[in-house]
Formats: sequence, structure tokens, C-alpha cells
Amino acid sequence: MKLALVGIGKIAVDQHIPAIKASDQWELAATVSRQGSVSGVATFTDFDLFLSQRPDIPVVSLCLPPVPRFDYAAKALKAGRHVMLEKPPGATLAECHTLTRLAEDNGLSLYATWHSREADKVAMARSWLADKTLRSLQVTWKEDVCRWHPNQDWIWQPGGMGVFDPGINALSIVTQILPVDIHLRDATLMVPENRQTPIAADLAFYHPEGARISAAFDWRQKGDQIWTIEAETDQGTLTLLDGGARILIDGREADSADGNPLSGEYPRLYENMATLVARNGIDADLRPMVHVSDALALGRRVAVAPFYDDTESKPR
Ligand code: NAP
Repeated sequence: MKLALVGIGKIAVDQHIPAIKASDQWELAATVSRQGSVSGVATFTDFDLFLSQRPDIPVVSLCLPPVPRFDYAAKALKAGRHVMLEKPPGATLAECHTLTRLAEDNGLSLYATWHSREADKVAMARSWLADKTLRSLQVTWKEDVCRWHPNQDWIWQPGGMGVFDPGINALSIVTQILPVDIHLRDATLMVPENRQTPIAADLAFYHPEGARISAAFDWRQKGDQIWTIEAETDQGTLTLLDGGARILIDGREADSADGNPLSGEYPRLYENMATLVARNGIDADLRPMVHVSDALALGRRVAVAPFYDDTESKPR
């Protein structure tokens, strides 16, 4: 099936293009990007022109940051195209609902992807937890923003979500592996005094059976990067490491994988999209986004030291 990739930036180059090129289900038929392009692929810089000139391409995959993405998604659905969204699915919940309604009304597929849910050991964690009584679950997601988002300004702008941009990946796993729904009860957001969005956040959740659920996100981590979820149950402890790529049960590696266990995430997203399009299906689970919106609504703001990336000069 022909597909157009929109927003040729970091994630398009790192993950989407290799996954599409390796797939026998998809053909990268066009790109739409003001600056980026892919050698040998038709290039558009204007999305309206793309929609009017290429009615033969039925699917668009949107790799833009969340704030500009809604207008592209709405135009694509109104023009009769199936739409695949990078995470987070939007800047606000209301615009995500609008997209879902547009897809429903037009009989089109909408896929709000959560790539971390496709990490190798997430499905195993979900089935291991299914018949256990949860006592506590702790998320620790600590990474170096300068390493993973070099000089990206949108993450610090309203709608960019700050540390929740990676934190929502953890929440996408938590909402996938827990058999019950949780909701946010308390949040503290550490916001650099020169920025709009948090650089760190501590969250606590209500769990219907009383388990203690918490999350610590921090973008100021140097050295080892930590993407861990630890769940203590009545029958032992489960630890997901490296963003869901490894799993330990009671401290022992439960199921090791050959090669890079994160390399399957984007190929699986494109397989899922092919399946959805075949039945005009919609997959738009907004639960991770609800937790982030709640944290931004309920969170206590604490001003912390200003943040400057590599391109900015610090005031003397
Ligand atoms: P990025 O490189 O900063 O931006 C992607 C592309 O979007 C840019 O190259 C730009 O292309 C286009 N764009 C940016 N701002 C725009 C605007 N205001 N209007 C229209 N187009 C605009 O971002 P990214 O890191 O790839 O992240 C994009 C999305 O992927 C985010 O939602 C992020 O959470 C998600 N994601 C990122 C990573 C990662 O490691 N970076 C991992 C997983 C998911 P043109 O200027 O050429 O038009």
C-alpha cells in the first residue's frame, strides 16, 4: 500500500523510514516536509498540494511534533486518507477526540501509535501481571534531554509537554500492562524558570485495589539512562528494563532476546496500521495522554534552574 510520510525530522529518519523500507506491506510513495526529503521519493513541501495532487496515496503517517500535527491530521481525514499519528496523539485531548470523530464519520482508519507498547517484553509483562495482586508499581524514567532531543525547541513550548514527551512512553506501557485503570492523584512538576514545560515530574496514582503507583520522570540524568518499571505483587516482582526491552522476574532475566529488542517497535506499528486499514479500524487509546493532561492540570509547579541547550548562550 502506498504511504506518505509527513515531517521528515529525527524520528522519521531514525525509525519510520527504515521500518517502511523493510516492510513488504508498505511503499514510501511521497514525503511532505519543508526541509527534509528521502532520496528517490516524490517530495512535497506543501501538504494541501500533496493532498490534491496525489489521490492515489491512501495513507499518511504524521511525524510532526504534537502542536502542528492536528491541522495535518484533520485535513488528511477530510481528504479521505487513513492517518497514523506519532505519539503523543495531539496537544490536547479535545483535538484527539475531534480526530477520532472525523475518522468515524468518514469511515477511515486512525491509529494513535504508542511505540513503547511494542517493545519486546511489554506483552509478556501484561500476561504475567494479569493473575497477580499488585502491591506497588514504580516508574523511573530518567534520561539526558541534551542527548535525546538535541536543540529541539518545541519540547519546551506550550503543548510540547517537556519531560512528559518521554514520560508518556512509560505511561503507555503502564496503561497497557495493568489489568485495571488508574488515575492521577498528585503531581509535582519541576519547570525551569526560562521554560514553559517541566524538566522533571513526580506523579502518584490512585489504584482501585490500593496498590501504590508512582512515577519519577527526569530529563537531567547524566551517565546511565534509566527507563524502568518495577511492579511488586503477591507472587513476586516484575521489572521491565530499558523501556520494555528486558524483563526480570524476581531479579532474574526471564526471557532474553537476540539482537536489538527495541528494533521491532516501528515495524510492528506499521504492521498494526496495515491491519487497521484493511478493516477501516480505529485504534486511539488516549489513556496515557489523559494522565499527562491531568498532571499538567493538577500538578504543583516548582521553579528550578534555567535550562540552556547547546546552541544557546547562557547569560553571564
Ligand atoms: P523534530 O525532528 O523536531 O520534528 C519533526 C519534523 O516536523 C521536522 O523535521 C519538521 O519538518 C516538522 N515540523 C516541526 N515543527 C513544525 C511545524 N511547526 N509545522 C510543520 N512542521 C513542523 O521532532 P521528532 O523528534 O522527530 O519528533 C516528532 C514526534 O515524534 C514527536 O511527537 C515525538 O514525541 C515523537 N517521537 C520522537 C522520538 C525521538 O527520539 N525524537 C521518539 C519517538 C517518538 P520540516 O521543517 O522539514 O517541515
